[in-house]
Amino acid sequence: MNKQWLLKSRPHGEPTLDNFEYAETPVPEPGEGQMLLKTIYMSLDPYMRGRMNDTKSYAASAQLGDPMSGTGVSVVVKSNLDGFAEGEYVVSQTCWQSHSLSDGQGVMKVDPKNAPISTGVGILGMPGLTAYAGLLDIGKPKEGETVVVSAASGAVGSIVGQIAKIKGCKVVGVAGSPEKCAYVVDELGFDECVNYKDADFAQKLAAACDKGVDIYFENVGGIVFDTVFPLMNDFSRIPLCGRIANYNMTGDPEGPNKLPAFFGQMLVKRIMLRGFISFDHYDRFPDVVRDLGGWIREGKVKYKEDIVQGIENAPEAFLGLLKGKNFGKLLVQVSDDPTRS
Ligand code: NDP
Repeated sequence: MNKQWLLKSRPHGEPTLDNFEYAETPVPEPGEGQMLLKTIYMSLDPYMRGRMNDTKSYAASAQLGDPMSGTGVSVVVKSNLDGFAEGEYVVSQTCWQSHSLSDGQGVMKVDPKNAPISTGVGILGMPGLTAYAGLLDIGKPKEGETVVVSAASGAVGSIVGQIAKIKGCKVVGVAGSPEKCAYVVDELGFDECVNYKDADFAQKLAAACDKGVDIYFENVGGIVFDTVFPLMNDFSRIPLCGRIANYNMTGDPEGPNKLPAFFGQMLVKRIMLRGFISFDHYDRFPDVVRDLGGWIREGKVKYKEDIVQGIENAPEAFLGLLKGKNFGKLLVQVSDDPTRS
């Protein structure tokens, strides 16, 4: 049977388990020009929260009753499609289900000889591309500059900080627990990491960034942005990657309008802020695979995966991601990985 998680209802604010519905349907037969894929790893990503809304965005919303959207690493079970053979591994739009059909559009092959296949949705996939293009093409780091990155232990942030170190920057991470901060400094080699939940977060961050901030790689928004922004230097850059702290907002925040002061600082400090979406940078994929793949092999870049076992646990794991319960790139293992001993 094809095990699926469907979008049952749209959340208002924080999603709950009631927004998802489990279903089992017969495994579909691939038609002419199609292949049947069996999911091994399903990727859980913060953008999926946006897909649950019925609002206009850069990608279509999930429809009620449809499987939740998402990508995964699968093995080809049956192929009626030229160029794809049984037993090959691919990254594709699997959605939250154990089996999917594909016509090959947007599908990327994954070679288990190069790297563990799970990295196809992690460091050598979309999160890696996001970190690489966002930092190098938008942030444009120069040796000696100070880079701050939020959600520093996560899929994107952990890679941003390590690339910035390779480029000769001072790197300060921001994360949500002492364990995450210790990992970021001790394992990944960031210079410092500050816990945004500490009462003296602002003082600690200012002390860590004693020469101000040249690049703030923004993953979260909220209180972290409010605290980093006053530290920005003249001609600093803000690659605006994500704002997970705001994803469950249902209206405008209360309090004074901060926009005039924000514009004022943007202008007088000549700050560049640029939103970006990973798929606009697909032309950088060969560079990601070459550089990040090479740095992993040389031991210069590390990555951490948080693998939840069993598709039945996907909604709970996703809700945890929005609360910082994941530690590393969040994956759901849906079936055995024959490449991993
Ligand atoms: P992560 O692996 O970093 O997981 C999300 C992390 O966000 C959590 O572990 C948690 O870490 C942190 N977080 C959750 N809620 C809050 C909050 N209220 N305030 C501060 N931090 C919070 O996810 P990704 O690396 O996949 O994604 C990071 C960001 O990048 C997200 O905003 C995502 O939407 C965005 N993104 C954007 C892309 C693009 O193309 N523009 C592509 C990929 C991701 P902690 O415990 O440290 O709080």
